[in-house]
Amino acid sequence: MIGKTLAHYKILSTLGAGGMGEVYRARDTKLDREVAIKLLPGELARNSERRIRFIREAKALAGLKHPSIVTIYSVEEDNQTLFLTMELVEGKNLDDVIPDHGLPLPQLFSIAIPLAEAISYAHKQRITHRDLKPTNIMQDEEGRTKVLDFGLAKLMAPDNMIDGATVVGDNVTAEGKVLGTAAYMSPEQAEGKAVDARSDIFSLGIVLYEMATGERPFKGESSAELISSILRDSPHSVVEIKRDLPDHLGRIITRCLEKAPNRRYQGALELKNDLEALERETSAGEPKPAPSIAVLAFADLSPEKDQDYFCEGLAEELINALVKVEGLRVVSRASAFQIKESISDIREIGRHLNVEAVLGGGVRKAGDRVRITAQLTNVSDGYHIWSERYDRKLEDVFAIQDEIAQSIVQALQVTLSPAEERGIEASPKVDVQAYDYYLKGRKFFYQFRQQGFDFARQMFARAIVIDPGFARAYAGVADCCSFLYMYFEASEENLKEADAASRKATEIDPGSAEAHASRGLAVSLSQRFDDAKVEFETALRLDPRNFEAHYLYGRSTFAQGDSARAAELFARACEIKPEDYDAPSLYSMALSSLGREEESQNAYRQALVVTKKHLELNPDDAR
Ligand code: ATP
Ligand code: MG
Repeated sequence: MIGKTLAHYKILSTLGAGGMGEVYRARDTKLDREVAIKLLPGELARNSERRIRFIREAKALAGLKHPSIVTIYSVEEDNQTLFLTMELVEGKNLDDVIPDHGLPLPQLFSIAIPLAEAISYAHKQRITHRDLKPTNIMQDEEGRTKVLDFGLAKLMAPDNMIDGATVVGDNVTAEGKVLGTAAYMSPEQAEGKAVDARSDIFSLGIVLYEMATGERPFKGESSAELISSILRDSPHSVVEIKRDLPDHLGRIITRCLEKAPNRRYQGALELKNDLEALERETSAGEPKPAPSIAVLAFADLSPEKDQDYFCEGLAEELINALVKVEGLRVVSRASAFQIKESISDIREIGRHLNVEAVLGGGVRKAGDRVRITAQLTNVSDGYHIWSERYDRKLEDVFAIQDEIAQSIVQALQVTLSPAEERGIEASPKVDVQAYDYYLKGRKFFYQFRQQGFDFARQMFARAIVIDPGFARAYAGVADCCSFLYMYFEASEENLKEADAASRKATEIDPGSAEAHASRGLAVSLSQRFDDAKVEFETALRLDPRNFEAHYLYGRSTFAQGDSARAAELFARACEIKPEDYDAPSLYSMALSSLGREEESQNAYRQALVVTKKHLELNPDDAR
């Protein structure tokens, strides 16, 4: 198959072969991305009744949308070959992840909890997996759990086949394959009885058993032996096999493995909660990490639905305020705003972004009134930690932002230094109309494209016309000109305007770190490195957690040849904003020029991971 083309998919390499056909890595030449292709048995393609049923039922599977469930993209046919295309997982099968004597507990939890959550999600959509086993579970390069082949077993089973698992049938010839699947079957599946979601709980129990100990609870030389073991034997508790495992884990797994479905967990959610509670218990002795939060873009509740930029702008302002707090981990704008369409449940979002708390809300802006609702949700139990509704004049928006930021910090019980307290206070009040233009400008700015910068510059300029004392709008103009100069149009005018606008910004608001960072960038572009140094140092003093100041100052010192200082600055930039893709790659270069090759390689690998993730979320980022 390699090198051949199916429909518009070019087959690149083999990913594996299971009971039902082969799986390939392929390139979708229309969308120009890599996908996984699963060939379906020829018999399925030839039998038109079954083919139609398959295609119809595949729709339900394609509707599963969960970060830990591999997404099915399409069912296609080419010249009598029926195949599925799906999300390509770069990573390892679970059986290659589990060491001989089982996984360390923290790793077990980090795989098992999202696994149970994904299964619970699918069960809620009334889809059972029916073929849970380590080759249908992967861990991707970022450590995320991915479940493969959800519900496929049932779709592919001919009518005369044992319900669910792919145990017998014309295509299954190799006894090894049969064993592979039989080992994870529930008793009711093995007996050919009707199965429901609780059958998945049993299979999951076997997978957990193997994760905990490296051993399977039921063994046999043939599928017949295996099946009778599943029907008959009560396996040792995992605690008896590995003494240092917590008793509670033993009880959890044993409960999954009850022969009678009604004695097992009745839902995967309950199982997940137990695993989570145990995880908290076992990690209680370790130092508590800094509280973490994601601020999502507010939902646009205005009648015309044209307040996108305003909703994002407000959230961004909150992010910028919270980032200044050392004792708080805040998800970056780019990651947080990407989320809104794809996932609907706050708790899933929280897990996806790996945070404790999520701030969400809505904005309705009409005339000179604004209504803002905000809720801070605790990801682990789904409860609101804090929520508020503001119904005020538009010009109060600054006070509202301030109040929300303060409430978040209080609710998460973060203690602030006096400097941090000042930092999270809203920036000086400006005309709301000007502010509106400013937020529009920010939205364009973040496109990081030539036209985006051009539009943003116009929006900032309008803001200045309305409010000539708007320092951040001047800084915005300066940044647009600087970025245009760096990436698109290295003209003298851009340089001059960046210089003039950034000077104005620092004059109006000498206490603004943002203004000094813009000024630093502007003067560094005209090679005035000493002036740049003064500006950047001022910015760092005013706001020790300002990402741009570290990153841009790093670039300036690096351009000047001071790799040691550049490395320090880039290292700190990576720390402040771990999702930024450029800082680690520059950090790697700076280290390399210092001869610190091993560290440089580490930073480089980090850069690859982050860049890849960024590209997934922002496929058309030219930079
Ligand atoms: P079964 O047919 O019972 O599911 P299986 O899981 O062993 O058996 P396949 O589903 O054919 O076999 O998959 C074979 C292997 O291909 C998997 O174990 C996995 O390593 C790889 N694979 C499958 N789907 C993907 C995917 N979407 N992305 C990356 N690798 C995949
Ligand atoms: Mg599979």
